[in-house]
Amino acid sequence: MGGEFTLIGRYFDWPAPPGILGVGDDCALLPVSPGHRLAVTTDLLVEGRHFFPDTCPEALGHKALAVNVSDLAAMGARPLGCVLGLSLPRVDEAWLEKFSRGFRALSDEVGCPLVGGDTTRSVAGVIISVTAMGEVSEGAALKRSAAKPGDDIWVTGSLGAAHVALELLQGQYPEHAALLDTLRPWLERPQPPVAFGSGLSGLARAAIDISDGLLQDLGHILKASGCGADLDYSLVPAHPALKELDAAIVQRAVLNGGDVYQLCFTADAAARADIKALALRHGIEARIIGRIRPGQGIHVSAAPVPLGKEGYAGFDHFG
Ligand SMILES: [Mg+2]
Repeated sequence: MGGEFTLIGRYFDWPAPPGILGVGDDCALLPVSPGHRLAVTTDLLVEGRHFFPDTCPEALGHKALAVNVSDLAAMGARPLGCVLGLSLPRVDEAWLEKFSRGFRALSDEVGCPLVGGDTTRSVAGVIISVTAMGEVSEGAALKRSAAKPGDDIWVTGSLGAAHVALELLQGQYPEHAALLDTLRPWLERPQPPVAFGSGLSGLARAAIDISDGLLQDLGHILKASGCGADLDYSLVPAHPALKELDAAIVQRAVLNGGDVYQLCFTADAAARADIKALALRHGIEARIIGRIRPGQGIHVSAAPVPLGKEGYAGFDHFG
């Protein structure tokens, strides 16, 4: 990193918490507790592909970290730290100040300190790469392959808001344009249930964060576990602000809309009381929406629009 890019150090050189060697040496050093495994995940965000060029830089800083700590939560891991790679067409100090503020606020909130990174000049827009590391008790990671027939299927939070926000930004449903202000934060500032997710280790079996849509992501668990699922649409929590939209729009947003960064997980029915207590402790809404069964594919009951006839990408994609 040289020239004007040394300026970037000003925005990202944060003191590391005790016990961690952070920015400033050849490597960061992170302690991993005895009996634990290191959980590592990485995500790449490319301007024009994953975010609009005019996205608020503070929201972008938030989201770049959020999508990674969401993956840690989906593994049942507790965050240890993260590294950031940033490729920028030019040094824009106002942009960097806002981006780093959004990144740092979430990093402080979820306890995932920035411990290193690299920057370089980009020839084509902004590229953001974040790698997050966490730790999870050996044998207690929430692997996709761990679901068993009879398991409850749970989701956290509510679904559909980010997808409809994206559609509104693309100019769809102009008669509902006023909804954008309400829904936009769910697209630009997702709030993954990080502490709740790490608390699920040892309680839940399989988990995934909803990045590509409930049906598609649950499908990944089913495929890895060799199971099928029955979902009751009337139990699936749609974001309350979607009420004014057509049922077909809501259904597609809820079942297939991505960018949610809430968790879908499975657990033995015997774990219900403990999971509800954990959710209460962390202020998280967690609901049972169906059950794992032998076989394959996802059957959705009580859906207002018959599935498979509306171009539901992700529905029954392997059944
Ligand atoms: Mg994921």
